[in-house]
Amino acid sequence: MSKRVAGPEIERLIQLLAKVPGLGPRSARRAALHLIKKKEQLLAPLASAMGEAVEKVRVCSNCGNVDTADPCMICTDPRRDQSTIIVVEDVSDLWALERATGLNALYHVLGGTLSPLDGIGPDQLTIRQLVDRIAAGEVKEVILAVNATVEGQTTAHYLTDQLAEFGVRVTRLAHGVPVGGELDYLDEGTLAAALKSRTVF
Ligand SMILES: [Zn+2]
Repeated sequence: MSKRVAGPEIERLIQLLAKVPGLGPRSARRAALHLIKKKEQLLAPLASAMGEAVEKVRVCSNCGNVDTADPCMICTDPRRDQSTIIVVEDVSDLWALERATGLNALYHVLGGTLSPLDGIGPDQLTIRQLVDRIAAGEVKEVILAVNATVEGQTTAHYLTDQLAEFGVRVTRLAHGVPVGGELDYLDEGTLAAALKSRTVF
């Protein structure tokens, strides 16, 4: 066991911070020390923001997004196009798309991808809720914005089958050359996908 340099409260803070994505034990120690030094300006407001988040954060029962209201702000936003749903694996993907797109649509967060080997079937995801939303009849297009991984694509195929009977347009994100990307650096799979989904100039 490594030698302790601080009391149990500080050790606990370091251990918890080390579990945050992007922070290993070393950066957790640096972060903890920074927080402790800035007790009034940072540690106290952070603690109260976290306390408030613990109390108020909930999962939207309609779309699976996290917010402080249920239904979430996106679901209740009347300015959003109610005829388009973008399906994502995780809330982080929703946030990424919101930062990037001009598309003012609704979302559906699956909570992962189908992965039979890990025991994740349709019932472990929010697929039933998605089908119910489509069955309600207002949605015209479902955009499958899942990852370009084997699990993501398996999930996309499964969803396409599930949604076939409703007559909605099911689309997926294009796979191919990233903006600013050089062809020479792309792997064969990406290049092949880019060629296959070529568009008229
Ligand atoms: Zn929602």
